[in-house]
Amino acid sequence: MANAADADNSGRSLGDLRVLLAGVPGITDRGWLGYCTVTLFPLEDGWALFDTGQYNDRHLLLDALRTADVSPDDIRHVVLSHLHFDHCLNLPLFRKAQVYLSRAEREYAGKVLSGDAMDPAIPDFWPSMLENHRVHAVDDGFRLSPTKRLRVFPGHTPGSMAMICDGPSRMAVCGDAVKNAWEAVTGRPGMPLAGDAAASESIASILREATVLVPGHDVPFAMNADGVEFLAPFHWEVNISLYPGGPGETVASLHRPAGPARTPKGGTRRFHHKENDVEPRSGHAPDKKKEE
Ligand SMILES: [Zn+2]
Repeated sequence: MANAADADNSGRSLGDLRVLLAGVPGITDRGWLGYCTVTLFPLEDGWALFDTGQYNDRHLLLDALRTADVSPDDIRHVVLSHLHFDHCLNLPLFRKAQVYLSRAEREYAGKVLSGDAMDPAIPDFWPSMLENHRVHAVDDGFRLSPTKRLRVFPGHTPGSMAMICDGPSRMAVCGDAVKNAWEAVTGRPGMPLAGDAAASESIASILREATVLVPGHDVPFAMNADGVEFLAPFHWEVNISLYPGGPGETVASLHRPAGPARTPKGGTRRFHHKENDVEPRSGHAPDKKKEE
């Protein structure tokens, strides 16, 4: 098994974790962007992924795996933080993987199928997507390894899971229980399908467990007494051409360097879209249109 943590191309290494794809926050007038964070890590009998991303970043995920010298069939375990499309739709790439999903999330997705709950981000074919895999419906505290625990943090969905990495670095791979640094700083979740109170308590619980967070839709960051420190730069560019082969136009070019975010104590913090940085903006209500 190659040591993917040694390589650092598209990914960002944090201990034995490697972020293959960094999540992107954002929504457009045509809906969610749906680019989630995909994290690779080793378990005793092979490689594992936390979340898979979806169709529109499939080629980038395959490129990132190739760079890490890991083939899709080398992935023996896939943890799905929850069943939203942007986290699960690349699962069929990993034919040899066992799947870990919270029991609560599977029950919730069942209610969505039967019409007893409404969640347009859960694909209605999820049962057939899982049927080719051995699926573990796990409860809070399930141990993947001596140093990796799965915790159920309801809020974004009733069965959202995060992975806590025990050890001196105290890391959490959050899925959408914490989607970005803004949520960690304010304690206020965007899109809390299982309720604001549960989602806020889950964010607080994760921050009690971990100081380095790999969020569902942003780059990894550390939380300390001074605030947020981004552990990787964020760069994202969007080019659109209005006809095939036409000259593309750059309609978004966002860059935020790694390092401390400006989060002085006392103010409300939010992302400043112009500079794509974190700035205090006292008095601003949280922007609900954050991301999936
Ligand atoms: Zn989600």
